[in-house]
Amino acid sequence: MNQLDPAQMSGTVMAVTDVSRPALESMQRRWPNSGRGADLIDMNREWPGNENGFTAASRHAGLVFNRLLRPNADFAIDFHTGTTGFEVTAFNIAEMDVPEIKAMAELYPIGQIFDNPTYPNVLHNAFNAAGIPSFCPEIGAARHLDLEMIGLFVEGTMNVLKHHGIVAGPMGRTGKDVTVFVGNSAFPILATQGGLVEYLVKLNDKVEPGQKVAVQRNSFGDVVAEYTSSVAGEMTGKRSDAMAEPGNPLAFILFHKATTEGVETYPE
Ligand SMILES: [Zn+2]
Repeated sequence: MNQLDPAQMSGTVMAVTDVSRPALESMQRRWPNSGRGADLIDMNREWPGNENGFTAASRHAGLVFNRLLRPNADFAIDFHTGTTGFEVTAFNIAEMDVPEIKAMAELYPIGQIFDNPTYPNVLHNAFNAAGIPSFCPEIGAARHLDLEMIGLFVEGTMNVLKHHGIVAGPMGRTGKDVTVFVGNSAFPILATQGGLVEYLVKLNDKVEPGQKVAVQRNSFGDVVAEYTSSVAGEMTGKRSDAMAEPGNPLAFILFHKATTEGVETYPE
């Protein structure tokens, strides 16, 4: 935003930050809700919200979407990071069969695109359903100030503003200047045991079917589990907490699935 000079621009850029105050205050993504007993609600499963919804998070989402976001946007970008304890690469979540979305997503000099709508009630899907082309940059690990990675997304976002004629000037680096891997599905690897997890691959590494990606040990050093990929793809996310218990996602591998079954659900 501090690179933008209103006197030199055409159109309007609106930034909305810290949209979920309770989540911000408690330093976690979910909103404490006590209306029907103790509960924690992820507001990014509530869009477009409901101004008369059953929870404060739903009502807040409805108010923000109906009265601020939707009436003021022709295009929308929902910036994210990974979650606490889980780091991700630099990638865009973008539906590449929508020309307006593809054109924007390809303007980022980053290595991966996840061509999948992901969860139904996330914000970029609510925008798309309202006829406002939208996508979701995922900017690495949560709680890390990664200035190098942030710079790639600033460059890409300035490209998007140039693409729409909002600011003038030459395009920066785009997806054409890097090798972009586009996948339409994310293969999850879930812990089956408790213990310390050691990764044999890094984020953005290519993996092959049958390749071992992680080993898990108990506190005595005994191997309790080994984890392999079932797909050919690229590492897009991995758990950053050292310990894992059964059911925790350990890794997601971005890959191309020949036929997708529409909306896929991913373990969280
Ligand atoms: Zn996200």
